[in-house]
Amino acid sequence: MSVISVLDDNMINMIAAGEVIERPGSVVKELVENSIDAGATRIEIAVEDGGRRLVSVADAGCGMDEEDIGRAFEPHTTSKIRTSKDLRAIATLGFRGEALASIASVAAVKAISRTRDCPGGYSIEIDCGKKGEVKPCSCDCGTRIEVRDLFYKLPGRRKFLRTANTEMTHVVEQFTRVALANPRLDLTLSHNGRELYNLPGGQSLIDRIAKLFSQETAEGLIETASEEKGLSILGLLGRPEISRTSNKLQYIFLNGRFIRDKFISHAIREAYRTFLDAERFGVVFLFIRMPYEDYDVNVHPTKIEVRFYNANLVHSQVLAVLREKLLGTNLDAKGRIPITQVGAAPPTHAKDQDEHALNIRRAMDEFFKKHRPVEGQNRFEFQPGKSSASSLAENSYRAAATYEPLRPGQAEPAEPWFLQIHDSYIVVQTDEGFEIIDQHALHERILYNQLKQRVTSGALESQKLLLPESFEVSTAQQQALEENGGILEKLGLEVVPFGPKTVAVQSFASLLCNTNPVEFVRDLLDLLADKGGKFDAERLLDEVINMAACKGAIKAGQRLTTSEIEQLLAERQASELSSRCAHGRPTALRFSIADLEKQFKRT
Ligand code: ADP
Ligand code: MG
Repeated sequence: MSVISVLDDNMINMIAAGEVIERPGSVVKELVENSIDAGATRIEIAVEDGGRRLVSVADAGCGMDEEDIGRAFEPHTTSKIRTSKDLRAIATLGFRGEALASIASVAAVKAISRTRDCPGGYSIEIDCGKKGEVKPCSCDCGTRIEVRDLFYKLPGRRKFLRTANTEMTHVVEQFTRVALANPRLDLTLSHNGRELYNLPGGQSLIDRIAKLFSQETAEGLIETASEEKGLSILGLLGRPEISRTSNKLQYIFLNGRFIRDKFISHAIREAYRTFLDAERFGVVFLFIRMPYEDYDVNVHPTKIEVRFYNANLVHSQVLAVLREKLLGTNLDAKGRIPITQVGAAPPTHAKDQDEHALNIRRAMDEFFKKHRPVEGQNRFEFQPGKSSASSLAENSYRAAATYEPLRPGQAEPAEPWFLQIHDSYIVVQTDEGFEIIDQHALHERILYNQLKQRVTSGALESQKLLLPESFEVSTAQQQALEENGGILEKLGLEVVPFGPKTVAVQSFASLLCNTNPVEFVRDLLDLLADKGGKFDAERLLDEVINMAACKGAIKAGQRLTTSEIEQLLAERQASELSSRCAHGRPTALRFSIADLEKQFKRT
């Protein structure tokens, strides 16, 4: 007896729905994409109970006539492609002709539509695949589709829907993607009758981002654009301080379609390397335009993935454009002054305020006068870690005779002042206000740059230790030692066998004089054993230099002499990218007098 039968159309649609319609958010996506393909400039989305009860999408697009509205909900019906040739260059968001049929097979759907050249409209209702008559009705030009009670006849699938709140976050996410990809569109979204978003068409992308995310996100973006090699790229790149712990705020759009792509994600990650810790993600909005023929969108049921015919080109272009922008931008972190006021509320009367301000200024003048620098101090060599711990009074508030002002070439440079606090931070007065420098992070960046430059040019000096220092090694460490002779040599390390399972450090890099040679080599071997197989040679060397810089840098809690601070500040001037340590954390926070005045309610 034969057991194979042909599935009826409704079964086919229900199965297809399993792929494209997962939850109310997917309904929103499909309906809104249809509205965009219909040329709508205004789309209203209304949702009830997180979309579980209702998803309604109304647009002022081209509409459907009597015949089309009857046909649109049939499987494999589309107005967007006709022949296989069309598949090679898809310019619309939809093309498979399965979304409406899928949705109508798993929910109660009502559609009304009217074309511009028709005096009246038409409506149709389909209840879980059961299609009603097409009826005339009166309505505005455009289309409204209402989808009620998704999966109500499929308890197995309905059960998988989450709470209204969770479903709503998915709806908002879909809305966000459309809103970002189409700043020209007038878009509204409401939930249970309450308007959540009302985004006017023609709004700038930055304004949209501020509305969809936050003002802080919008203000933390840097714009870059490029047109090269058949690729147009517009990027809004988050400054490192607004980075996230996940890649959720990395939005990639290809010709107006939100996509996920591992090559592009990798390029973003690489672009941010050295600006961010490995576990942090840059906020990125990336808009790529390229010929439709250069990629295939017909590879994923929801078309969220595409196949680039030249993925390497896309990767290298994105990486180059982003990296260049990040490297060429001053990424100094802006310090935020907490709103908390200490003590009583400031005086509000204008005269009192003046008096108050004057008192502060007088007190500050007095304070700085008392701590005038001793001019023309001798500068001595900075030996990290070898600081003679002198008293705080001696170290504070002295002008650095050799410290270049932050903006050279000014007519009257402000006198630079600094103060080490808690043996960890250096407060420096600047023209605009003051900066707080993280001494470890800054020195780490300087050392990283110096090490990198000298290692690559083969000019890293090393010193012979007076007495070789020996220590035991594990099998893994031994193996790492044998396999990475080149790296050790580059770092000026001479490590030789010294008996069974024992090795000795004979020479050590002069730049790392702040570290204990045995501890350093031990950790280095562990790192090489751990990462050796995973990273290519260049990346591995970079990791090693990173580690060396971290270990070799002056520590938090280390008291510095005046001349050491001077030297640190001078080296900072000469150092590239000194505003971030090699892990991407800021090395300094800037505060402006203007902000202070605002906080003290003096403006
Ligand atoms: P696809 O978008 O892949 O063509 P759909 O099932 O989503 O398939 O839609 C089927 C057809 O219905 C579309 O090709 C389009 O002609 C028509 N259609 C759907 N939604 C709208 C709309 N909002 N306005 C005008 N026409 C629409
Ligand atoms: Mg569609």
